[in-house]
Amino acid sequence: MTTKPSSIAFASLWRVRLPDRLMSQPTRLRSSRHAAFIKQGGRCYYCSLPMLPSNDEQEQVKVNASQHLCTRLRCTAEHLIARSEGGSDKLKNIVAAHAECNQRRHRMDTPLQPDRYRKLVQTQVANKCWHSQKALSVMSKLQACTLNTPH
Ligand SMILES: [Zn+2]
Repeated sequence: MTTKPSSIAFASLWRVRLPDRLMSQPTRLRSSRHAAFIKQGGRCYYCSLPMLPSNDEQEQVKVNASQHLCTRLRCTAEHLIARSEGGSDKLKNIVAAHAECNQRRHRMDTPLQPDRYRKLVQTQVANKCWHSQKALSVMSKLQACTLNTPH
């Protein structure tokens, strides 16, 4: 099987695991986010399109895009039950979502519940009015990387 260097880098990201003894609170969230990223096959919970790995791993995936766009497309942890409502940082309460999709929910006057927001986003994606053309172009390259990743 022939793989491009970028897909090898992408695959190696998926094997990063932190030992349990290093689980401080922020580390727990980071670990849950990473696990959610893998569980979802690198795809956003809301729009189902490929995400860039989050900040600390980002330099390992080379995409030809502005820093601003990369930031919007990176993976963030979304709490299904908000922390303010007692939701934990454990994986069962965490999904991985684009920073963009995550922030757009929180910017709503009255943020929808995650499942309802997801339906709204999926409709917008189907109508091609959610992500910009530039963002879609970057994500199509990420998709190619994902397809080359051995399972
Ligand atoms: Zn998304």
